[in-house]
Amino acid sequence: MSLLEKFRGALLGVAVGDALGAPVEGFDGESARRFYEKHGWKMVSGKYTDDTEMTIGVAESLIACKGFNGAHLAQQFLRNYNESRGYGPGTREVLKMLSEGVSWKEASRKIFGGEGSYGNGAAMRIAPVGLLYHENAEKLREVAFKVSEITHAHELAKEGAALLAFAVALACRYGCNRYTVSAEEEEEEAGETKREMLRSLHAFARHRIYKEKLARIEALLHAKEDEEEARKRAVSELGNGEAAFNSVPTAIFSFLRSHDFRESIVFAISLGGDTDTIAAMTGAVSGAFYGERSIPREWLESLESGVVAYLTKLAEDLYELSKEI
Ligand SMILES: [Mg+2]
Repeated sequence: MSLLEKFRGALLGVAVGDALGAPVEGFDGESARRFYEKHGWKMVSGKYTDDTEMTIGVAESLIACKGFNGAHLAQQFLRNYNESRGYGPGTREVLKMLSEGVSWKEASRKIFGGEGSYGNGAAMRIAPVGLLYHENAEKLREVAFKVSEITHAHELAKEGAALLAFAVALACRYGCNRYTVSAEEEEEEAGETKREMLRSLHAFARHRIYKEKLARIEALLHAKEDEEEARKRAVSELGNGEAAFNSVPTAIFSFLRSHDFRESIVFAISLGGDTDTIAAMTGAVSGAFYGERSIPREWLESLESGVVAYLTKLAEDLYELSKEI
């Protein structure tokens, strides 16, 4: 598989996960699953939300500036802002301050009593950073922190974003140009790769909360449970909420435990909670790992018009830029 196919898969994976998760956002897992079983896991609206809109903004700004430029990115978020995309209250507040002329270096620090948000609004948009810096973990961390900080200043939001970006990067690095002969061999190789990815993520994480959750993922992956039990434990031990530490590890687990793109998204959404963002983040990693062609056609074809072509173009521009920097 080519690296370009992985870049396309990551960005398209965000939009597909986001649009599939959106109609059941806030449902409990059982209700979310019942809703989609009724619809045969077909996409019911195809409309993407803030997750995809902000991912587009990050990609556009990284491409235009050949890397991070805070003032430009803040303006890009404002230019792209569409109220109907379901932005969270913290991000809306920060964007309002930015539109009133508050510096991008200060706005995000003014919310939540001066601590900044630890929501997953930074991690949900971070895939382009993981792609662009897939070969350089420290640069990836630095840029992920900066991209987060514009709206999410809390350490836990920034670390969550960096961790998801690194998962996307690892997914890009592995499995390129593999020459395998049988499905079993491929499955075995993917399993070993994923175990290595989890070890790398654990080594990359700095904050105790994330290290603990990654250790729990390891235990959950070893537990041979039925689907229902796996879902219950994922929700109770990893979380399905809007805090970055209650959703980034959940997305990583949804990817790691599954055998293809579709399965990972179905699992993520079946957990309920912040389904659009958890599925968008799962889609970023799964899309990067399995590539664009692994995404079910009918899901891509059901997305709102123009977005597949535009994300494909952004993925190609990021790919070209990644060779220059
Ligand atoms: Mg959303």
